[in-house]
Amino acid sequence: MTTRPSAARRFLIPRALAATAAAGLMAAAPGAARAQAIPTPESALGFPVGADFRLATYGESVDYFHRLDAGSDRLRMIEVGRTSEGRTWWMAVISSPGNLADLDRLRDIGLRLAHPGGLTEEEARTLSRDGKAIVHIDGGLHASEVAGAQHTIQLAYDLLSGADEPKIAAILEEVVLLLWPSLNPDGQDIVVEWYRSNVGTPYEVAPLPRLYQKYIGHDNNRDAYMLDMIESRVIARTWRAWEPQIIYVHHQTAPFPTRIWLPPFAEPIATQAPPLMSRTVNMIGMAIAQGLEQNGQPGATHMGTGFDAWYPGYIDYLPMLQNAAAFWTETALYRYATPGFYTISDFPADRRDLRPGTLYPSPWEGGWWRLRDAVDYMVTASMSVLDYAAKYREDLLYNRYQSGRDVIRKYQRRPPYAYLVPREQRDPVAAVELLRRLAFNGLRVDRLTRAVDIEGIEHPAGTWVVRMDQEFAELARQVLDTQEYPDLREFPDGPPEQPYDAAGWTLPFQMDVRVIAATTPLSEETRTALEPVAGEPVDWRAEPAGDGAEVDASPFDVVPGAGFDTNPVAAGIVPPPGTTSGSGSALALDPAQNNAFAALNRALDAGAAVRYEARGGAGGRYVVSGVDGGARDRWVSDLALRAERVGGGDGPAVRRRIGLFRPWRASMDEGWTRWLLERYGFDFAGLRNAEIRAGGLRERYDVIVLPSESRDAIADGFAPGSVPPRYAGGLGEPGARALDAFVREGGTLVCLNRSSDYAIEALHLPVRDVTADLERAELFVSGSVLEVIVDATHPVMAGMPERAKVFADRSPVFTTGDGFEGGALAVYAAEGSPLLSGYLLGEEHLRDRAAALDVRHGDGHVILLGFRPQWRGQPFGTFRVLFNAVLYGDRLAATVSGDPDFWTASESEEGEETDGG
Ligand SMILES: [Zn+2]
Repeated sequence: MTTRPSAARRFLIPRALAATAAAGLMAAAPGAARAQAIPTPESALGFPVGADFRLATYGESVDYFHRLDAGSDRLRMIEVGRTSEGRTWWMAVISSPGNLADLDRLRDIGLRLAHPGGLTEEEARTLSRDGKAIVHIDGGLHASEVAGAQHTIQLAYDLLSGADEPKIAAILEEVVLLLWPSLNPDGQDIVVEWYRSNVGTPYEVAPLPRLYQKYIGHDNNRDAYMLDMIESRVIARTWRAWEPQIIYVHHQTAPFPTRIWLPPFAEPIATQAPPLMSRTVNMIGMAIAQGLEQNGQPGATHMGTGFDAWYPGYIDYLPMLQNAAAFWTETALYRYATPGFYTISDFPADRRDLRPGTLYPSPWEGGWWRLRDAVDYMVTASMSVLDYAAKYREDLLYNRYQSGRDVIRKYQRRPPYAYLVPREQRDPVAAVELLRRLAFNGLRVDRLTRAVDIEGIEHPAGTWVVRMDQEFAELARQVLDTQEYPDLREFPDGPPEQPYDAAGWTLPFQMDVRVIAATTPLSEETRTALEPVAGEPVDWRAEPAGDGAEVDASPFDVVPGAGFDTNPVAAGIVPPPGTTSGSGSALALDPAQNNAFAALNRALDAGAAVRYEARGGAGGRYVVSGVDGGARDRWVSDLALRAERVGGGDGPAVRRRIGLFRPWRASMDEGWTRWLLERYGFDFAGLRNAEIRAGGLRERYDVIVLPSESRDAIADGFAPGSVPPRYAGGLGEPGARALDAFVREGGTLVCLNRSSDYAIEALHLPVRDVTADLERAELFVSGSVLEVIVDATHPVMAGMPERAKVFADRSPVFTTGDGFEGGALAVYAAEGSPLLSGYLLGEEHLRDRAAALDVRHGDGHVILLGFRPQWRGQPFGTFRVLFNAVLYGDRLAATVSGDPDFWTASESEEGEETDGG
């Protein structure tokens, strides 16, 4: 099944490893004294942790942890949930036997301090004295960064086998460690199995040709506030049940040639991060660095690189906004368990002098770097964090209280005092989706029991209210407010420094939910009108261990069976009930509601006919006919739809045959698209290189979607020789010809964001991406929310408002040339700046240019979307653009075109203007 590494390897075992191996052999030798029943990792795995070319799977790791559980009264395994692929997921609780016997009380103390409402200073002091530090450490969630999930095995062994050493005894006495063998069990197995299949072959270090999380791969660390993935929810739920004061997630890789990157973070940090927590993380980063020097492990740095902490979607940073000291580190990585050797000449020129610096006093001098080295650095780092927690236990507990208390006081004195969310929305379900996410992350949500006047506006009964005088309020503010990313330049007047991730994400904009900030304190009248609907701290402990399937499913989907009525968080936040008006045997669905598409897909499954109905300025809608009234009513009720009954007019059942390109160079955007289409019930197939290159696509598909990837990634794929041959290459010339024929024969090609550049070139479209020739200092937009003007009469934009908010991310901006046929779907305004949240440099390059086009090509259409309609499952306000686009085509709506006068700018006109000027 897997290739085992041969006994005669070409590398020597390093000294540290040999020593560990010898110790393991002694412990396992027959007749050895059983002074302690702590089995060595080697006795369970068959090799020492970190051995060259050897990695433990999640199953092997957890088996070992269970053996520790059986052999020690200092470790207890707790099942936390299930993963996307259905693996059982475990956390080990490690502490002294006394603490483990007293775990419920210690947990209660931590929870009480995390939610300081009603606590006096004195009570908080007493609780802090009586409690133990609760520290979360894990094996990482980026599974190709392999050392993390190996180090947890060694760390557990070192803590249990060293329990008599004073330093470790103090840790066990003062700290309750929540040690997750891995934060991504699926990914650990995926990566280890891939590596085992390649080790000893020419493809030993080949990149993984799939995502290491079912849908989103590396973006599993970008989902902390959206909680779209099961894993994110299991982690969040467990954290709410324990409220650790420190959360430490291991990553690789360090900026070369440094050996580990440690906090403090680079600029900018999240504007709302409580300063006491930022200071704590800074101290911990320094404590780790000191611990590494004590251990003779050089090369730690806190500098350089762009590890900023601006984006709150990191699962290892968002807890800062819940008053926990959350951070990550980046240990050096070569490739998997294969060792690498470096000489000074491999170093960047400015690092070759090995000059010590304030924050890099022990430069790494090169040589071998092995998995075992990374494991050793990580074990030291984790031990240093535990040592810090043991020494500062009382401060950590009290600071958790103080930070929460200070947030409450802050928003008693300054705006915003609350966020008001009306139930009346363009898509009322979107507001529910937003609020449930906040509640799941520990925010309390209230509701008005009667109408009240706030700042001169009457807010009806039922309006949701997120009060800001609560301990996790900074999280609400961080995701609901507008972001103004600072104008940081590489040098004065130089290009902007690249944000490490998104610059702006404002959820009310992305989700198209109306949210109103209260800028004056809530009156007594308003306060007495409030009743809690969610988040009065949910007692997760009431859930049976290992259960919670209703949470693991999808607590946010407003669909029956997904648990919105049973899930403790979601129970109170429900949309207005579905309504049907009018009369007739057909059902008209307004695509302004995302759930209209879920209903439409259910109707297709039931054999209904679906047609698109253009209504001029009112925008189009979908009409479902040929189903019985019972089913119709059920969809309206289940999906909380506002629907209208209209006259029949049966057409044929139109089931679009949808293909989604799935490159071997695994695409997170493909995964998000797949996830979203599945979530709304679309039927589609994954398309590999070979199928596209073989041609004849029109016989099998009506629509093909290209995820947002660069031209090179799509056309060329993995370089030959870098991966096993079956994964090498991209669409190439045959693929371009096949897609061209597909569209000419009447197919619809939907290009998400950057893939537009691929289609423009491969299909020779008379369209130009104006960003292609601009430098970063001239035009820069990386992950921000922009405003566009929409032709809502075009079927692809059905259900969109005339001024819409879109998420742009290194997005193409279009002009058209001679021979262009079709129309613009969305354009940037001719004046002003379209920036709504984030960062945009060079807005003049966007003015009056197209953000999305419908390009006629032969008998078919190419839809070029110069934004990311489904970015990380966040922009509920533009999901429908993707849904409409995959429904767009000959039989359903392609006979309807948009407003011919909507936009007429083109290259040639621009040329005339230039000549005239
Ligand atoms: Zn990582």
